[in-house]
Amino acid sequence: MLQKVALGQKSLADYTHIASEGTIERIRALAEPLQGHRVLHVSATAFGGGVSEILYTIVPLMRDAGLDAHWRVIFGKEEFFNATKLLHNSLQGAEETLTDEQWALFDEVNALNAEDLHGDWDTIVIHDPQPIGLCRDAPQKSRNWIWRCHIDLSEPNPAPIARLQPLIEAYDASVWHMPTYVPSGMNGNGGVRIVPPAIDPLSPKNMAFSPEDAAFVCHQFGIDVDRPLITQVSRFDPWKDPIGVIDAYRGVTEEIPEVQLALVGSMATDDPEGREFFQHTVEYADGDPDIKILNNLNNVGAIEVNAFQSQSDVCVQKSIREGFGLTVTEALWKGRPTVAGNVGGIPLQIENGESGFLVDSPAECARRCVEILSDPELGKRLGRAGKEYTRRHFLSPRLLCDWMELLTELDS
Ligand code: UDP
Repeated sequence: MLQKVALGQKSLADYTHIASEGTIERIRALAEPLQGHRVLHVSATAFGGGVSEILYTIVPLMRDAGLDAHWRVIFGKEEFFNATKLLHNSLQGAEETLTDEQWALFDEVNALNAEDLHGDWDTIVIHDPQPIGLCRDAPQKSRNWIWRCHIDLSEPNPAPIARLQPLIEAYDASVWHMPTYVPSGMNGNGGVRIVPPAIDPLSPKNMAFSPEDAAFVCHQFGIDVDRPLITQVSRFDPWKDPIGVIDAYRGVTEEIPEVQLALVGSMATDDPEGREFFQHTVEYADGDPDIKILNNLNNVGAIEVNAFQSQSDVCVQKSIREGFGLTVTEALWKGRPTVAGNVGGIPLQIENGESGFLVDSPAECARRCVEILSDPELGKRLGRAGKEYTRRHFLSPRLLCDWMELLTELDS
């Protein structure tokens, strides 16, 4: 059964003072002809990762704007998620891809989910590749179909993208974070739209936390709040390079021995590889008491992520490949000086030297962290600039507005 995701309540009115001027009014105007529009979001998981993060805000806000919006999660057994993990990696360039049997399983699970898809929808939005076959397998279930891609498909392994491309092109529109993420072979097919993601400034993860409260929470996890802290929040995944972060931290300790590192990462339910990589990261940390490696099994939820980011003297996101990098947006929104990999959507968010630092290696990451830790004024300047840029470009009201425009366009 496709699982219905239970949604909280959000009110657009609460965002009036944070959103850029005119955004809420524009959303309300766009929402008028869309009252009662039945829109269904479908994703592979409701837990962990950027997709669920966004949907927990956008779907309730769509409802508050008067749309009949819902979110469901596909079902699939472990072998299916092993296959889609391979697919995810190969679409981002990894050589290993699905075997014929795995493709057969991929098609089979999509077909079963398509059969189970009930309702008569105005728009169905499919998120990421795992449920991409639903449009092919159940086209009659919705008037409009949108595929929302959250990953970078600019340099994919050619075999999986050749299989996916016809599926993408069957959609009325496909939505991408950046123009460069669209596979070159699409040649303008598939109704390409560019919409960067956004974070919810009022969610428990991003709402303003006092320094005292942040310190209180971090202290409970063994952080010495009087010593400097570097944090990376991300899934335990090779693309997020926690090993490189540990190398960078070791570089920093040579100049600033009292520094501490927190690696905070959840285990997504569709990410079996994550468990193995988590173990590898723990082994690499080699029992260093100043490296804290935490996950959701330690009860690290949104509030704790907020506390760690707010408390950090530097936030790091040393990704090697990155879809957009919501963790970067979150750190910038908290006014934290941020050092991040010069990949994917990260350069869209950070202007190197102005609103953070972009880096290409653990050594460079270490050097930038040392610079910030030794010069608090520099950290403040970067943090202020990063926060202001994020306010203007990457908060949820702007994203909701973009969605309403697309729904309106496809409906006319
Ligand atoms: N996240 C979290 N807890 C964790 C690890 C990640 O809440 O332990 C959240 C993180 O705060 C962010 C999202 O998951 O909101 C990750 O999105 P991002 O775009 O950075 O990466 P993705 O996981 O989608 O590749």
